[in-house]
Amino acid sequence: MSLQGPKTAEWFGRANKALVNGVSSGFRYWGDEDTLVIDRGEGAYAFDMDGKRYIDYQLGFGPIILGHGYQPVVDAVAEAASRGTVFAMTTAIEVQAAEAMRDAIPWMDALRFTNTGTEATMHAIRLARAVTGRDLIVKFEGAYHGAHDYVGYSTAGAPVGNLGSRRSPVPFEVSSGVPSTIRDYIRIAPFNDLEFMERLFQSDGHRIAAIIAEPVLGNVFGLMPQDGYMEGLRAITEEWGSMLIFDEVKTGFRMGLGGAAEYFGIVPDIGTYAKSMGNGYPIAAIGGRQEVMSAWAEGGVMQAGTYSGNSIGAAATVATIAELSTGAPYAQIDKVGNALMTGLAKICADHSEPASIIGIPSMFSVFFGDTELKEYRDTTGHDEDLYEEVVLGMINRGVMPCDDAKEPWFISSAHSDEDVAETLTAFEDALVDARS
Ligand code: PMP
Repeated sequence: MSLQGPKTAEWFGRANKALVNGVSSGFRYWGDEDTLVIDRGEGAYAFDMDGKRYIDYQLGFGPIILGHGYQPVVDAVAEAASRGTVFAMTTAIEVQAAEAMRDAIPWMDALRFTNTGTEATMHAIRLARAVTGRDLIVKFEGAYHGAHDYVGYSTAGAPVGNLGSRRSPVPFEVSSGVPSTIRDYIRIAPFNDLEFMERLFQSDGHRIAAIIAEPVLGNVFGLMPQDGYMEGLRAITEEWGSMLIFDEVKTGFRMGLGGAAEYFGIVPDIGTYAKSMGNGYPIAAIGGRQEVMSAWAEGGVMQAGTYSGNSIGAAATVATIAELSTGAPYAQIDKVGNALMTGLAKICADHSEPASIIGIPSMFSVFFGDTELKEYRDTTGHDEDLYEEVVLGMINRGVMPCDDAKEPWFISSAHSDEDVAETLTAFEDALVDARS
């Protein structure tokens, strides 16, 4: 049965003629029958072209931390739009946005804005290479850092069977069209294994510019680092003079105002931010410690962008951080997220369904299986077919997480206790249906 009602199907037909596969980002295509076209969002809800309402746990892959169309952010953006959006000069709103970022993330001495997470990690990697004079980048199996060539290896789309031996993982290319030599600059590591990392640095450390880490694997169920792991990465990178890049595109402003760095009490060298900092408007940032960021000031390291620091994204950032700084949104997200995590676990236990709920209240996933998830390779223990069937059953009932469990459920401060109750009922009914 298609997820599309008649009007949504008609709009998808139009979308499919004008946009390749009817989408502007490959991850949004769920097949010709099940790709939805959205009319509008409001708070925790998205409405398709048939007016069908969904409790939205995708939230645009994470950014909508205050809910869709959050009025104070909309007002700030509207005002900015009427004052002109892009100049060949810095604007006052851009300065205010940068100050708000620094206040929220005290370890960060200076930053520059860009528009997407992909741009942010691309620049962060270039900066790390420029500062260290080295080429190699270490990334984790399953981690996603955007669509550019340097990070398109062994992401959460890679089949585990193609990753090579765990002792010496193969960088698995997830896209055609990338020059074959780019793989020479990447080293792949399993998450949560410090001994592996120590061995890797013993053999290649003097050539490693940076470890780029999602501190919580926001593209692998919201998988958390084990105690001491982040400290271990910090110590190894310091010992070898390599940079530690925290890719906080998903965790930033979601794990709290100071992101994962604050949550885990680790100071990285460079941090990349996007998504929740602007509640859905295109804005991202690369920030870091003064010694690192001064490489841009000294010149010779290229960073540029026509739309970087544009007033729309900057105004959205100022307004979003102002709301988040009150603490109220985080209290609501914690309450709703905790209720969902506990409720989902209880339903699975009640139905003798082996499962664990992984992650944190603002960003978590359901893992169907009885293995412990410590790294990407353990995802083979998850029953993907069951999860997809359950999620399709939920979507039919008006509740919408991503159909791929590796993409966490995202919670906004607009989600309510009623949404929790409706969601848990839909989950239980869909699970019972799937198992019968
Ligand atoms: N880093 C992480 C951790 C991400 O999750 C994403 C996107 N999901 C990106 C980078 C890329 O961001 P964007 O899609 O804005 O380019």
